[in-house]
Amino acid sequence: MAMEYYRPTTIKEALQLYQQLSYAGKNPAYMSGGTEIVTLSRFHLFQAASLIDLTHIPETRVHDVDGNHLVLGASLTLNEISEKNGFPLLAVTASRVADHTTRNHITLGGNISGKIIYKEAILPLLVSDSLLLIASFEGLKTVPIHAVFHKEPHLSPGEWVVQVLTEKNAVDRPFFSVKKRKIDVIDYPLLTLTAIKVDGKLRVAISGLCDFPFRSVAMEQVLNDPSRPVSARIIEALKVIPGDVRNDWIASAEYRRFVLQTTLEEMYAALGGM
Ligand SMILES: Cc1cc2nc3c(=O)[nH]c(=O)nc-3n(C[C@H](O)[C@H](O)[C@H](O)COP(=O)(O)OP(=O)(O)OC[C@H]3O[C@@H](n4cnc5c(N)ncnc54)[C@H](O)[C@@H]3O)c2cc1C
Repeated sequence: MAMEYYRPTTIKEALQLYQQLSYAGKNPAYMSGGTEIVTLSRFHLFQAASLIDLTHIPETRVHDVDGNHLVLGASLTLNEISEKNGFPLLAVTASRVADHTTRNHITLGGNISGKIIYKEAILPLLVSDSLLLIASFEGLKTVPIHAVFHKEPHLSPGEWVVQVLTEKNAVDRPFFSVKKRKIDVIDYPLLTLTAIKVDGKLRVAISGLCDFPFRSVAMEQVLNDPSRPVSARIIEALKVIPGDVRNDWIASAEYRRFVLQTTLEEMYAALGGM
């Protein structure tokens, strides 16, 4: 059976389509850049009978400052975000995802909402305590990213991300962002680490280490513990990784832990200890 394609131009229309297609048994899914949907479909790992393309809804294309927040629409592509550079940490981190041609299609909303585990664009949002504007059948709601994202996004059926809001004073903080690959070409990350310093304390988010991107309270407590030297903090941080370290075709768990250790040393060199 051919997949049906819909292109709503309002938030309300997208939600109504989702409801109607669900009732009609047409198993709808939202779509933004389509890169993951195409990739997973090739391996029969993505099942939907109908697609609702969100990229023609004006609110999802916004790149603007509104009051105290930088507002980024979920349909902005990673290249658009990098070129506009309104959020330098996000711009740099996004610029290392995939290759330039693919980044013309990958969107902010798709990267943070997808099934593929890396989701590198979420790291700057986690350390900046960004908010998500979510469209739901009850209306629009603005929620902290930490309320929605634990290992993966937890959205109810039919809900979707319209925008990401980040406080203006959070987007210009000094930052550290590095992507380590197995070999220095375009690839999924062995480890991607982003960090900022707020009120003298480091905030750190990591992708590629575990099966999910994360920002860990326990790890930040250790990394910010002024009673220990930096070298001891790093050793302690390795003990509180919030999941199993990946052991795969890119690298062994042992090597990933070693890379985390050296990357944390680089982070302290860049941002300073306390
Ligand atoms: C060759 C290649 C290399 C890549 N390398 C990397 C890499 O190194 N690091 C990395 O992090 N990523 C990488 N990616 C990107 C990643 O794997 C996904 O393909 C991409 O992030 C999906 O974005 P998209 O806009 O195309 O989403 P889509 O394919 O359109 O959607 C992906 C999923 O998100 C859902 N979705 C889309 N938009 C929304 C929304 N606004 N609200 C709620 N749900 C939504 C869809 O229903 C679907 O389930 C790579 C992709 C490719 C093709």
